[in-house]
Amino acid sequence: MAFTGRVTIAQILRSTEVDVAVTVKGWVRTKRGNKNVAFIALNDGSTINNIQIVVNPNDFPEELLKNITTGACLRVEGMLVQSVGSGQPVEVQAREIEIYGKADPESYPLQKKGHTLEFLRDIAYLRPRTNTFGAVLRIRHAMAYAIHKYFNDRGFYYFHTPLITASDCEGAGAMFEVTTLDMKNPPRTEDGAIDYSQDFFGKPCNLTVSGQLEGELGALALSQIYTFGPTFRAENSNTPRHLAEFWMIEPEMAFYELEDDMNLAEDFIKYLVQYALDNCADDLAFLEKMYDKELTERLRFVVENDFVRLDYTDGIEILQKSGEKFEFPCDWGCDLQSEHERYLVEKHFKKPVILINYPKEIKAFYMKQNEDGKTVRAMDVLFPKIGEIIGGSEREADFDKLNARVEELGMSKESLWWYLDTRRWGSAPHSGFGLGFERLLLFVTGMSNIRDVIPFPRTPKNAEF
Ligand code: ATP
Ligand code: MG
Repeated sequence: MAFTGRVTIAQILRSTEVDVAVTVKGWVRTKRGNKNVAFIALNDGSTINNIQIVVNPNDFPEELLKNITTGACLRVEGMLVQSVGSGQPVEVQAREIEIYGKADPESYPLQKKGHTLEFLRDIAYLRPRTNTFGAVLRIRHAMAYAIHKYFNDRGFYYFHTPLITASDCEGAGAMFEVTTLDMKNPPRTEDGAIDYSQDFFGKPCNLTVSGQLEGELGALALSQIYTFGPTFRAENSNTPRHLAEFWMIEPEMAFYELEDDMNLAEDFIKYLVQYALDNCADDLAFLEKMYDKELTERLRFVVENDFVRLDYTDGIEILQKSGEKFEFPCDWGCDLQSEHERYLVEKHFKKPVILINYPKEIKAFYMKQNEDGKTVRAMDVLFPKIGEIIGGSEREADFDKLNARVEELGMSKESLWWYLDTRRWGSAPHSGFGLGFERLLLFVTGMSNIRDVIPFPRTPKNAEF
């Protein structure tokens, strides 16, 4: 069978057929050779692997060959043959070459030499063309697909929650306001406050920090749902683990208690990691070689070992007895910093940890209260290198308890009335969690900065491209 239609380099390299005509299209990675033969490494992003084009310089105009430089885009027609060289199984003997787009070596920033990740962030509009970002972005795609597959295979429904929301009480993070009011001269009420009744939605609105509250409405009707969409937090913390715009996966399940929630979270992450090992081997091998020598070992370790499940109170005791000097010392009641989470995971247990039963003061209002009156049924999944990768809980299903907590915290019932109503009619035990998609990708790719696992990162003072 000859290749027909548009064929990717990945398809050609997978094929066992040789001595057939092929057309390949892609971008030049390198060109080398002498006056008798030239070798072009061509890549089209379908795989980390290049296809080698063998060119007899005597068959082509000098002007054309001169313009085949790193970054130029080509169409090559020729014969696919067994490679005589050692680096690759097959290669293409060029018969015809067309240059779709030149790339002047004087100005094209992505030359053959390796570039720092910092430099590549400044040219994020071009970095998908590098090996590193090709690998990361293909893995990103594979993980997105695996997430939908995991839930679909288990009877969960993909539920779309709004990005623009007026429920400002979730407390998960600082929010971006959405308004069409004239910022230089907003309408005022009699007492001088901004008159939001004249705003587009007739009230203050924000970009969502989490789809959870609406997700719960889905779970209390469809039993098992998940969301997978963008989330926005005006996090003014410049860390390698926070973005202002990130993607979150939030499953929410009726009839799940905390234990079921933990089981799902552990199974879900293991499935995704195994999926990457099974389907992204070439890209993982590249990232392992370039950035993280222990990458596949760490991925296998997560799949093969049970996560530790531990009470927050016991976790604090371990930290206090550790003798470690932490930047932020930690007593019962404190919110764990990344340094504490990583101590538990990397030094103490050397395994992923699910920490449960946190003090209610440091967790959200909707979490189910334990009998002790002090803690809630929260669970955070803590991972090596990352710290928190998942945050979840069993939700408070009892109207009176939830209502009392909302009052205690002085939250606005006017914007939460619909949420409280779910506990008035047909309330049910239910649980859920949120997995930060880019935190998962940090773990799976071994990259160390969250800006390098999303095509166009949004962080403080940075919204270019
Ligand atoms: P952290 O303490 O790390 O700020 P959080 O407690 O604010 O996290 P949650 O509100 O529980 O996180 O959100 C659920 C998940 O979303 C987190 O476990 C994490 O994986 C991810 N996440 C939270 N904030 C961000 C962010 N700014 N950028 C990327 N991912 C995030
Ligand atoms: Mg946060």
